[in-house]
Amino acid sequence: MKVMKFGGSSVKDAGKIRNVASIIKAEAGKTGVAVVLSAMKGITDSLIFCAESAEKGDLAYKTTLAEIADREKSTFIELIGSDDEREAFSSLEVMLTELQEILLGVQMVKECSKRSLDLIVSFGERMNNTVAAAYLRSTGFDAEYIDTRALILTDSSYGGAKVDYKESYRRIREKLAAVKGVPIITGFIGANEEGVTTTLGRNGSDFTASIIAGAAGCECCEIWTDVDGVLSADPRSVDKAFVIPEISYQEAMELSYFGAEVIHPYTMIPAVEKNIPILIKNTLNPDAPGTVIAQDIASHNRPITGIASIKNVALINVEGSGMIGTPGIASRVFGALADAGINVIMISQASSEHSICLVFREVQSGNALEALNKELSEQVNAKRIENFVIREGLEIISVIGENMIGTPGIAGKIFSALGESGISIQAIAQGSSERNISFVVDKKDSDKALNTVHDAFLV
Ligand code: ADP
Ligand code: ASP
Ligand code: MG
Repeated sequence: MKVMKFGGSSVKDAGKIRNVASIIKAEAGKTGVAVVLSAMKGITDSLIFCAESAEKGDLAYKTTLAEIADREKSTFIELIGSDDEREAFSSLEVMLTELQEILLGVQMVKECSKRSLDLIVSFGERMNNTVAAAYLRSTGFDAEYIDTRALILTDSSYGGAKVDYKESYRRIREKLAAVKGVPIITGFIGANEEGVTTTLGRNGSDFTASIIAGAAGCECCEIWTDVDGVLSADPRSVDKAFVIPEISYQEAMELSYFGAEVIHPYTMIPAVEKNIPILIKNTLNPDAPGTVIAQDIASHNRPITGIASIKNVALINVEGSGMIGTPGIASRVFGALADAGINVIMISQASSEHSICLVFREVQSGNALEALNKELSEQVNAKRIENFVIREGLEIISVIGENMIGTPGIAGKIFSALGESGISIQAIAQGSSERNISFVVDKKDSDKALNTVHDAFLV
């Protein structure tokens, strides 16, 4: 059996859903298939916009909600017409009414918790999978809509819930054994023990696909998207980016963690555990071979494999004489930031112990500053730690590749190429795995930095 996951770009309108249906049908004739679908492209963003606007009492959300309803219903009608699949159409209408009522509730109480937001965004996947399953059935193909809230058990970390693999796998296996026809499974969503809706984080449908593959012991987990595979860099920034035919789980994890959104980093977790290859394919170009992500891959002789970047980050330096020889400062810094819910993406510490540089998402700057000021106020007042200064408008660039391990001179070549291009570096970090060298630049320099490094290593 294999899992086939199609992302929002691949199911963004009736024409695209038709195309996806033909890809599914061709495969389902050959082997057992479980399908995972995202919401139509843009719907999750629109749902978040609705929730945030309703919370502020801004009635603009009603227009967006009407657009969402129109898009879902007209896709259904265009694909199926108005005589067939009446039950599925009613269920779509019920969902739209429920969504409207929930948003009205948010507008009235002027409050949208993370828990409510997860429920609101879950409609995107639920509606799209309902439409797609109905369409497949209307063409004579046996397909069953499956809501993963009954299968994927998570904790209550709304917006990025942690999965209970053991119980989820048990439920998935039980369901897949009972399902007739091809399961059309909602990506992105799960539920906690009380049955409250949760989500796995933005782009989380890739992760859902790999959870299903892990549970069912699939021979392959296919991620179908709008590019020919994992590329050596984001094609929107680097024109010369090319498809990487094979890449290791670890490299794919690093690339995606550092911004290559073609695959969610957690997708690799169930796949590594069960040694299931992941195949990235293009729905617009199904004959292209794609990229295989696996443990044992053919070696290549380029010194690096790829480059990725995370936009809109901020940097803070914790520095001062009080840092030297005072054990426990680092743990207090990280503890305070963790308690404030701040995810530190990159750390670099000077060996003098005089300073620690921390990089996190720019939206979290205010909270980070507040948390550090609170935790270290005594040291700051005593001038043992300098006042914190935040630098915003930055981007992290990560250079990734197994071949860097044990190969001298890569860092030197990266930084001299950047120096020659006149790009100034704000911070540098190298993972002890040597599989990753990351640095921070001003965002105005980021495309130039990406292209400079790409030209230096990947031609
Ligand atoms: P989907 O809707 O299928 O989930 P995403 O938009 O989440 O697709 O991911 C695909 C996009 O990821 C591509 O269109 C591309 O712009 C972007 N991307 C960024 N970095 C890379 C990379 N290294 N390789 C391929 N695509 C990348
Ligand atoms: N629809 C969700 C998102 O836009 C999940 C996904 O597409 O993978 O983030
Ligand atoms: Mg995606």
